[in-house]
Amino acid sequence: MHIKEFQNLMRQLYFERDNERGPKGTLDWLEDEFEELREALEEGDINAIKEEFADVLAWLASLANLLDLDLEKAAISKYPNKCPKCKKKPCECQF
Ligand SMILES: [Zn+2]
Repeated sequence: MHIKEFQNLMRQLYFERDNERGPKGTLDWLEDEFEELREALEEGDINAIKEEFADVLAWLASLANLLDLDLEKAAISKYPNKCPKCKKKPCECQF
């Protein structure tokens, strides 16, 4: 499954509810899922970590749907098979 297909699945499953909630409320949910991911990482529970990764991606896709934004296109456009800053793969930026 590609990112675009996953985003479409989220649209089919949740768009109506997401649309009623709106972008701000959906971003609040996404932030909650990041917090749950943080907790799962701290607990080191790999099954919980996997679920929270899925939830973060799902809510990110929902937010993209509300903004009529193609998540896959945005990701590939910013990261065209190389680092957007140094243009290398792997990245050679100094941090
Ligand atoms: Zn770089």
